[in-house]
Amino acid sequence: MTRLDSPVVRLDNVTRVHPGGVTALDDVSLHIGHGEFVAVAGPSGSGKSTMLNMIGTLDRPSRGTVRVEGHDVSELNDRELSALRAISIGFVFQQFHLSAGVPAVDNVAEGLLYCGPPLTERRRAARSALERVGLGHRVHHRPHQLSGGEKQRVAIARALVGNPSLLLADEPTGALDSKSGATVMNLLHELHAGGTTVVVITHDREIAASLPRQVHLRDGRVIQDTNPEGGVRTC
Ligand code: ADP
Ligand code: MG
Repeated sequence: MTRLDSPVVRLDNVTRVHPGGVTALDDVSLHIGHGEFVAVAGPSGSGKSTMLNMIGTLDRPSRGTVRVEGHDVSELNDRELSALRAISIGFVFQQFHLSAGVPAVDNVAEGLLYCGPPLTERRRAARSALERVGLGHRVHHRPHQLSGGEKQRVAIARALVGNPSLLLADEPTGALDSKSGATVMNLLHELHAGGTTVVVITHDREIAASLPRQVHLRDGRVIQDTNPEGGVRTC
């Protein structure tokens, strides 16, 4: 059952000033409920990746608070942050970020390194994740032997192998042709249908419009949010 009672992500008055003085996020408040599927849209340089990195605890705010699964990120030490990321969050990036020369099964098994089951167990789970994304026949292929769409499906398998509650994708279809992009979006829809909260950055207006909630950024600010309550019950 989808839990709507407390946000999985809660940004309150978050500002991020990058080194050099660029204010990439400017007083952003955003609540995302369990089981939501959110598109983050906006022009290049509007702060989309900075916001996703905040949500994913890869970066810390200059001001304001970031809470993930109820944890105030500023109160966690590096070890606790790594644990939160490893257990609760899966990442997918435009450029796949797969390890070169490493077979698909071991790229995916890397997604379980932190939790540390034995290698045979990690590989078994990795094979099953690759089957879920339709790549059961490509487990021994290395990244250079795969198409762009297949690489992104390997990256999705790596993100989902640990069953994270939150999947964050930064322009996952940005480097793909439209057919492979549609396959990747179908996979994200399947994960969402299975209960995962999904946040996807996209430049593609059609993709953004097809998702249940759209958050539009400009100059580091939220200029439009089609569901500002974030699916979170307020009473
Ligand atoms: P988007 O993903 O919407 O294209 P970003 O979040 O990557 O936007 O960037 C927002 C702004 O912050 C841009 O002006 C960018 O140049 C700047 N920026 C992003 N990352 C850094 C960084 N690590 N150091 C300095 N400036 C950065
Ligand atoms: Mg970006």
